[in-house]
Amino acid sequence: MSEQGAAVVAAVAAVADRLESERSHLTDLDSAIGDADHGGNMARGWAAASEAVAELDDPEPAEVVKTTGKTLLSEVGGAAGPLYGGSLVFASPELADGITADSAVAFAETYLEKVQDRGDARVGDKTMVDALTPAVHTFKKSVEVDDMTPVEALAKAVAAAGRGVDYTVPIRASKGRASYLGWRSVGHQDPGATSTLYIMEELLDVATARLETPEQLPDDAESPTIPDGEVTED
Ligand SMILES: [Mg+2]
Repeated sequence: MSEQGAAVVAAVAAVADRLESERSHLTDLDSAIGDADHGGNMARGWAAASEAVAELDDPEPAEVVKTTGKTLLSEVGGAAGPLYGGSLVFASPELADGITADSAVAFAETYLEKVQDRGDARVGDKTMVDALTPAVHTFKKSVEVDDMTPVEALAKAVAAAGRGVDYTVPIRASKGRASYLGWRSVGHQDPGATSTLYIMEELLDVATARLETPEQLPDDAESPTIPDGEVTED
């Protein structure tokens, strides 16, 4: 399997595990300002996506991403399927020639653009866009201006997404089901921004372990292993 394709399959599996372990937390967040389905939707959708991409024969990154998106579209109801899944399908061709700094930036920008269009959401509406926008802008700047590697840039982007999640707490929702609550949405963290951060954190973990210096790894190289006990999730 291509090293990059295998890394993306591993990333989808890592996201599925993480969202399963965050299922009740995301449900709690969505209970406060939504309809309490986000934890179940994301856990179920990504578990199905992980199974689907594991079946692919020697896939390239774009095929893994497209299959993930199509599976989310078919498994996840409501707004989340088109937002998370449809946007992955739409952005996947940006990775047609593999994952490079430039293609990763193009993928991230196209994904954000599609999420914004489908959700008709902008920064400040208290949605996943509040995590995604600073993350994508930071990623692009880190690669194009600060000349970081994609993995270094992704670490910066994850930090920016985390600040974006915090920013959703004190603001009033203007899009999605939470907007029906008006000012009563203030003080609650947005579940979509939160799951977006979790997905990005898992991408960073896998990218750090597997993609940092792909040109130095022979095709059959063992992935670097992370010693037990050094990775904490909280
Ligand atoms: Mg919901």
